[in-house]
Amino acid sequence: MTIPFNKPYMTGKELENIAKAHAKGHLAGDGMFTRQCQEWLEERTGTHKALVMHSCTAALEVAAILANIGPGDEVIMPSYTFVSTANAFVLRGATPVFVDVRSDTLNIDERLIEEAITERTKAIVPVHYAGVGCDMEAVMSIADKHGLLVIEDAAQGIMASYKQRPLGSIGHLGALSFHETKNIISGEGGALLINDPVYAERAEIIREKGTNRSKFFRGEVDKYTWVDIGSSYLPSELVAAFLMAQMDEADSITTRRLEIWQYYHEHFSALEVSGKLRRPIIPPDCLHNAHMYYILLPNQSARVRLIDNLKTRNIHSVFHYIPLHTSPMGQKVGKAVGVFTVTDDLSERLLRLPLWLGNEYATEVVDAVKEVL
Ligand SMILES: *Cc1c(COP(=O)(O)O)cnc(C)c1O
Repeated sequence: MTIPFNKPYMTGKELENIAKAHAKGHLAGDGMFTRQCQEWLEERTGTHKALVMHSCTAALEVAAILANIGPGDEVIMPSYTFVSTANAFVLRGATPVFVDVRSDTLNIDERLIEEAITERTKAIVPVHYAGVGCDMEAVMSIADKHGLLVIEDAAQGIMASYKQRPLGSIGHLGALSFHETKNIISGEGGALLINDPVYAERAEIIREKGTNRSKFFRGEVDKYTWVDIGSSYLPSELVAAFLMAQMDEADSITTRRLEIWQYYHEHFSALEVSGKLRRPIIPPDCLHNAHMYYILLPNQSARVRLIDNLKTRNIHSVFHYIPLHTSPMGQKVGKAVGVFTVTDDLSERLLRLPLWLGNEYATEVVDAVKEVL
């Protein structure tokens, strides 16, 4: 039997919800299911307003527009992240400014942010890697001191929190992903959390092609028209119907993922003691969501050896980001501040193990890793 790295989990209620949307005949965005998803997000995160999008990438793009980011502006973010974190701002003509990450959480090193700030800096984008919160207290106080906006890339952060505050709900804006590789899914999907009410009205307009159509539907204006820049960022009702079925099961999905994560964690403890690998570190301030189980091998060749050996046993394990400051596009449009000792090192040694809800494979993965190492 093959053990894939990821297998999208279905609750069993998705098709029922889609059939309801189908029967209602409302297939475009902003129907009943979209509203339910947004209410769920608002209730669970405490955000002022949640807007469901067709991806987290879209949510980040809307955030960049809301932040009035333009040519010449700079946005500080970790180099160790997904391309969308940077692309959203590059699309506005801005420069992504990369800094190194912390060696414990692999999140942006908050001690390096201030030296990266210039008079062109507009925003900081902390990324909560593996659903483990950044030191948001430090990030928010730096942002306050310098009058900067904080846009959380909480793509991996649904159901996780930092000091009891849900990830994505702490900065001025936050972006979540429901891509099929994340914990709660709709194939492609995402959401923007508007924590600072100042951005709520404009966010709705940008998401609806730059029109005040949402106001029109609520009966607040008697016709709708073009009022701002924008694009089509909303998902179809069919996607929202799927997503709502997942949100209904979010607690049990998270609990079950945490059990698998914990199983790995306990069973790799001895290997950590003997120096064969390093396990993830969760700071006491953070409740994570078991988005990912990664291990850090001693060096790149140990990683290659483990990947290949697991492959011969039909177990699929994968490494992660090529640091953006070393990528062709990152070098062309980005600015790297300081040294990237941690990023360069960990990106060569990190390996992600299968973590999805299904039959019992964790025992097999643990046994295989133990044998190879
Ligand atoms: C998955 C992910 C994204 C992109 O999410 P999409 O919904 O696929 O657009 C952005 N940032 C991070 C850190 C991610 O993990």
